[in-house]
Amino acid sequence: MTQRKMDLREVSDPHVLRAMEAVQRHLFVPEEYQADAYADHPLPIGYDQTISQPYMVALMTELLELKETDKVLEIGTGSGYQAAILSLLAGEVYTLERIPELAEAARQRLEELGYANVHVHLGDGYNGWPEHAPYDAIILTCAAEDIPPPLLDQLKDGGRLIAPVGASGWSQSLVLLRKEGPKFTRREIAGVVFVPLRRGTAGAHRHTDEWGGGNEL
Ligand code: SAH
Repeated sequence: MTQRKMDLREVSDPHVLRAMEAVQRHLFVPEEYQADAYADHPLPIGYDQTISQPYMVALMTELLELKETDKVLEIGTGSGYQAAILSLLAGEVYTLERIPELAEAARQRLEELGYANVHVHLGDGYNGWPEHAPYDAIILTCAAEDIPPPLLDQLKDGGRLIAPVGASGWSQSLVLLRKEGPKFTRREIAGVVFVPLRRGTAGAHRHTDEWGGGNEL
């Protein structure tokens, strides 16, 4: 399949645009949706989850203002597509997923495609990934009612955090935080619709009580 022009609207950062061109989105979606992979809408990736529309991925990435040495944390690996985009713009990408099958598939896919600076971990992203903190940037690709406090703690001074915030589909807004010393500045970007952040890891045989209960993949 050949890469098609994506509708990225006002996103203009040349590095972000280049990353969006470089990553083959159709390789991150189930076969039956591959023909639709470059269209301007979200797509199902199984387990009731979705991959965001290309515009939303590009916008959130641009707002993180990444430098090539940055350490980034993503909550909600899903297909691994957003992580692949981040990996081309940052130094290291740490990404957490709570559904074992998605985490394992994304890890394999990212490895096969050569995104060697992405580290996938099965775990509850609410608690972040303290071992590698602090992060220059944090991105949530699932909506939290409030931004989890551990994530605020794991953000570097001067760091940026982008997240859909809000309970149900139609009352979420995309929020950009910037840590400035002990304070955060907050900017509301737009109304958005994301799948919810859920606590714990999925699957009855998994430990769900604490961060350390996740399995390193
Ligand atoms: N960034 C993904 C899209 C993910 S959809 C991509 O590019 O494909 C949101 C994902 O967040 C889902 O896979 C969902 O399982 C995951 N998720 C929800 N709550 C979570 C939590 N507490 N910790 C980690 N992942 C979570």
